[in-house]
Amino acid sequence: MNRGRRNFISKAMCGTLIAGAAPIYSGHELMAGENLVDLNHKYQILDEILAKPVFRRELFPDPVIIESIGLLKYGQSFLCLVREKNGATGISVGHSDLKNLYPIFLNKVQPFFIGKDARLLDDIIERVYIYNLNFRHNGISIGIPIATIEFAILDMMGKISGKSLGNLIGDIHNPEVGVYIATEFREKPLDEHLALIQETVSQYDVDALKIKVGYQHAWTKELYYKGPEGKTEKLIPKVREIYGSQMALYADANGYYNVPDAIRVGKILEEYKYEYFEEPVMFDHFEDIKSVADGLKIPIANGEQDYSFYNFRWLIANDGIEIVQPDNFYFGGFIRSMKVAQMAHAFGKSCVPHMSGVGLGYLYDIHFVSAIPNAGEHHETHGLKSIVPFECTTSPLKIENGKIKVPTGPGLGITIDPDFIAKHQEVKL
Ligand SMILES: [Mg+2]
Repeated sequence: MNRGRRNFISKAMCGTLIAGAAPIYSGHELMAGENLVDLNHKYQILDEILAKPVFRRELFPDPVIIESIGLLKYGQSFLCLVREKNGATGISVGHSDLKNLYPIFLNKVQPFFIGKDARLLDDIIERVYIYNLNFRHNGISIGIPIATIEFAILDMMGKISGKSLGNLIGDIHNPEVGVYIATEFREKPLDEHLALIQETVSQYDVDALKIKVGYQHAWTKELYYKGPEGKTEKLIPKVREIYGSQMALYADANGYYNVPDAIRVGKILEEYKYEYFEEPVMFDHFEDIKSVADGLKIPIANGEQDYSFYNFRWLIANDGIEIVQPDNFYFGGFIRSMKVAQMAHAFGKSCVPHMSGVGLGYLYDIHFVSAIPNAGEHHETHGLKSIVPFECTTSPLKIENGKIKVPTGPGLGITIDPDFIAKHQEVKL
């Protein structure tokens, strides 16, 4: 979305609001022409969204009491099994980082869910962050265990109700999800980098790709090989030259630049018609992110590292971001990520979730995208290879014409090979 439309929506939203609301935020330095009442109105809208439940409890007339939750492991594979009192079950495919995080899963997260009514999932997810002072773990260390359990519960609730994962957290807006191929190779010399991009992209039927610009995170500049100076400045036009105007191009700096360099590189991206600039500066430096957004026309995307609602809330209210990118695992599941998408939607901004989890991360990602009203045109994939053998009767789960059809069966919509499940053993402390 261009800046003109963005400002129009922001102003239109504010114009419909009640004047004179009590200030709810006072730490913001007003920019020229900005009105504190407008900003407070924005926060009022965002806070209402954060307070509103996401999970469709109305689908379940009777209590669904969680009786057991198990974490299973086989090689690099983690599965989470949940069972409720009447015998319904659900399963999720865990994130590979559970190999590091299983003690948090078993000690600090799993016990809180036992005996709870799964119909109150919004409330459970909110309170498990407080239980055992879990919020101190922040980020992926608490987000991945919580998301893994939430996904298993949603699978179970999907099987009980006959609804897909997406339909448990909203209406289905996107039965098919457009994808882009995420490419890496930022450490390679220019020619090799370009050849690897082409080799990767040629394996898929897509019309969108993302390149890495700059090197890796500002604070690693002295630790890692940086590559030749000026490579990014050549890479950006070369990729456009190779693919022409029909390919949607995105760029990701993973927080590498400072503000002046991000604006300089962003202007090159604008010249060659890239569609957004992801993590141009450090992901949690909100003022820098906004400074970059203010200095460029290209939309700014951010959020894969974020673990707080308030990071997104500030960036949305202060027009520092156009595309929110919560990671369904890192951010603690669909319910929390949906609130981020809805906050962005209220101000005409879009959502392109970050995708992680080697197991079936892409499948969770497309289920989530199926239910968001403000999905970007293309969503992240690194390919569809998985260590998990399964069957899906409602989708080929292939990229066709740049899109993947989202499974429509209950829950996750797949049947994992029972022999594969049987190889797993319960993880114990
Ligand atoms: Mg990224």
